[in-house]
Amino acid sequence: MDFAIDAATAHRLATFDELGREQMRPLGREADRLGRPTPPDHPYFQTLIGMGFGRTRWRPKRADGEARTTRSDAGDKVGNSRATLLLSEQRSYWDRGVAVSAPGPGLGEGAIISMGTEDQKQRYLTPFINPDKPRWGAFAMTEPGAGSDVAAIQTRAIRDGNDWVLIGNKSFSGNSSRADFILVWATVDPSLGRAGHRAFLVEHGMPGLQDFHIERKMGLKAYESTSFRLEECRVPGANLLGGEAHYEQRAGFKGAMDTFNSTRPMVAAMAVGIGRASLDEAIAFARAENMTGDPRIRDRLERAARKLRAARLLCLKAAWLADHRLPNIVEASMSKALAPTAAFEAASLGMELLGLAGARGDHLIEKLFRDVKAMDIVEGTGQIQRVVMARKLVGLPQS
Ligand SMILES: Cc1cc2nc3c(=O)[nH]c(=O)nc-3n(C[C@H](O)[C@H](O)[C@H](O)COP(=O)(O)OP(=O)(O)OC[C@H]3O[C@@H](n4cnc5c(N)ncnc54)[C@H](O)[C@@H]3O)c2cc1C
Repeated sequence: MDFAIDAATAHRLATFDELGREQMRPLGREADRLGRPTPPDHPYFQTLIGMGFGRTRWRPKRADGEARTTRSDAGDKVGNSRATLLLSEQRSYWDRGVAVSAPGPGLGEGAIISMGTEDQKQRYLTPFINPDKPRWGAFAMTEPGAGSDVAAIQTRAIRDGNDWVLIGNKSFSGNSSRADFILVWATVDPSLGRAGHRAFLVEHGMPGLQDFHIERKMGLKAYESTSFRLEECRVPGANLLGGEAHYEQRAGFKGAMDTFNSTRPMVAAMAVGIGRASLDEAIAFARAENMTGDPRIRDRLERAARKLRAARLLCLKAAWLADHRLPNIVEASMSKALAPTAAFEAASLGMELLGLAGARGDHLIEKLFRDVKAMDIVEGTGQIQRVVMARKLVGLPQS
């Protein structure tokens, strides 16, 4: 198993360190202080576009029908996961909220690439090949009454002639009020559970896509997590992700799980990034306050560092398996269960060591402490990962 990085990835990591120190961390702290996300017209986003970020890894097929690839996904189904993972970790080291606020096709990109028709890829991903301005895509599965239990979504998809009519409420969808399109998951019949699921590409401005409301969050305030309503939102039949045939052949839910299995190790690595930032703050404080002579403090710092290192290795293994198209469900779940708890321990240790300096609310460690909590929740809670692994361990099928 080779976790070495190539020169291009090393260069990108170095670029992020400069960007992170000079822009991402100050922007994240500003958003935290103001309690609102970085606005979409902020010059930072244009800077990212100028630097070549905010792009899709998808490329149109060549005239001879062969799929073209970008450097990042050459030869892989899910791209060069290890490089993406390390970049995700490093961005989150500087600020995970700012990292997620970055323009790009978003969490729905993987599902569009794996499930979408050629026409859908052309229409929704082409603008992200060489974007003229910062553009966002969003993903909306969660509802006020359906989080972990995605089979319980109630947003209805009703066929009406050549169109579909969507009715329901979505919540906590990242970047959705600023997105060109939102990949919305709905059900044709709630009694069918996952088999009733369908995904739709809903464009900004479509009538009935309304009532965007940016939710309050305890941390990660630099990016918007938004609720919205689908009030008889009429979507052309051509916007059903993958087309009718896809759902006749496979259960509707499969596409969402494909996405999660490739992204859970990324989210876990983001937690490692926040954990490392917390540990650095804790060590800097311990040094400045002459606390490092105490073996109990050294022991706790070492334990936090060791757990973060172990979590990171598990993330890399899950990514390596993905790069080699090998099943990674156990490693993906393990990394997602382990990394946020290791990161939370590092942030808690930082809060304890800093004492009053941390509790006042204006120190970075206190922000990291609030930021890290969400990492156990997003994209499958730690508890749900443990449920998945425990069933697997004793040979029960996944429900
Ligand atoms: C910052 C942030 C960003 C997000 N971004 C997005 C996004 O872009 N798009 C999107 O669709 N969603 C998004 N979400 C929503 C996220 O996916 C859900 O919050 C998550 O799935 C958990 O759902 P829930 O909050 O409703 O908790 P619930 O599912 O109600 O769970 C509550 C608690 O019960 C536990 N629990 C639930 N079921 C079981 C079980 N069977 N066995 C044992 N324990 C169980 C859970 O582990 C958890 O501890 C985001 C959430 C956050 C916090």
